[in-house]
Order: sequence, then C-alpha cells, then structure tokens
Amino acid sequence: MEDVDFDELVASLTLREENQSVKSYQNTVAVACPACGEPFDDLVVCQENPTSLDLTMQLDLCVGTVDDQAVIFTHKQ
Ligand SMILES: [Zn+2]
Repeated sequence: MEDVDFDELVASLTLREENQSVKSYQNTVAVACPACGEPFDDLVVCQENPTSLDLTMQLDLCVGTVDDQAVIFTHKQ
C-alpha cells in the first residue's frame, strides 16, 4: 500500500467506533479500496497486536499494514 496516502484516505471516512483494540470507520463516500479497487464498506484499524474481530456478517476482507498496524477493508458480499 505504499502508493496510498492513508491519512488522506482516512480523512474521507467517518469514525464509527473506537476502543483500545480497534478503530472502525465507515466509508460513506464510496472511496475505492486500495487493495482491490472496489468501494469498501468499512475500514478497521487494529490498535492492539494481536486483535480479534467480532464479525456479525459474512464479509470479503482486504488487508494491509500502515505503520505496523493492520488495516482491514471490509466488503459486504
Ligand atoms: Zn478491497
């Protein structure tokens, strides 16, 4: 993801939830996923290592790292 300006990407998103393990953002403006090019639904930044995700639905996931933090782009199926 070296070509992606992550700070700029996050600035386009809406922060929905933040706790000590994860921060999640909703993509309300259809920003394209840097991994697959399709607009993603949510971005999850893992702030703890390791971190568990509690998924409530079946999702396609794209994964990257930024500053040694895992970032996950979710796509509803
Ligand atoms: Zn993707």
